[in-house]
Amino acid sequence: MYDMVSFDIMLLGLAKPGEAGRSRYANAMARLTGKPQLDFRNPSPSFDEPLFSALDQGTAQMVARTLGEAGALIEVRRSTAVARTNSDQLAPTDTCPACGFVQPAGGNECGKCGLIFSKFEREQVQQMQQDRGLEDALSKAIKARDEWYQRAHHYLETHPLAVDATTGLGEPVAAGELPFLRLNSDEGPILLTSRRIIASHKGNTLSIPYEMVEDVNFGGGLVAKKSKVRMQLVFRAPLAAVEGSAKSLTWLLDKESSFFKDVVMDWAFARNFMCGACGARDLDFRLEGSNNRCRCMHCATDHQIDLREALAIPTSVQ
Ligand SMILES: [Zn+2]
Ligand SMILES: [Zn+2]
Repeated sequence: MYDMVSFDIMLLGLAKPGEAGRSRYANAMARLTGKPQLDFRNPSPSFDEPLFSALDQGTAQMVARTLGEAGALIEVRRSTAVARTNSDQLAPTDTCPACGFVQPAGGNECGKCGLIFSKFEREQVQQMQQDRGLEDALSKAIKARDEWYQRAHHYLETHPLAVDATTGLGEPVAAGELPFLRLNSDEGPILLTSRRIIASHKGNTLSIPYEMVEDVNFGGGLVAKKSKVRMQLVFRAPLAAVEGSAKSLTWLLDKESSFFKDVVMDWAFARNFMCGACGARDLDFRLEGSNNRCRCMHCATDHQIDLREALAIPTSVQ
């Protein structure tokens, strides 16, 4: 179907008819038409002769806005003429994506706000890549979460958890997180959930994603009581949540709890964060200030680690 509607633009006058007003108008007209400003220094308002005629809607809006901003009083009229190509009336223009300024096409820089177009495009592309990386990383992480939830659920079918299993823990279990094993130690209770280890340690409560565990050691060291078994968790980087930022922590498990050491190892060794940009699992972990971070060894994408959510979230794409 042909779009029969088009628009004429009439110039009725200038909001400020002085020298400054005329030169703003001339500047805008020069940008729109590609002709010299001199041609427009003496505007001739007219109710009959359109400044531009038979513009399509988008072009009419662009022209009306540009002239309006330049202080021109204009009227836009519907015309029944078929919208025509604008090449005889208007020069090709670019509209600045940041400030909306209309200017001759092909420049590198916005004439009003100074935005560098090529840089803007580059940054836009990077932002899009980053958003996509983030989206993929999150959807993968959420899919993995489902799988681990199912695994915990399966474990519970043969090893039911006591209703008071979360007693004594200083941190609530999150929605969508399934606790499946409680261990008791001299340092406090330890809860394994589908997402992380929630562990008391001498009055602190730590949230330890399995992905942050580099190694698990049982036995060794001096254990005063025969009935206790030493469990050491070694982290990939000192944990932000730990006072004094320890690279490893030790618990003395009671006899009953020590029977489950295979479960702790199974879960800790099965999981690794994935790079949100390239999918590699080759990440270099560190503690920076009060945040745990990791950098992909393949693509150099940096990630912030949320210990409670057990997520590594990409923060920059190189
Ligand atoms: Zn601009
Ligand atoms: Zn990567």
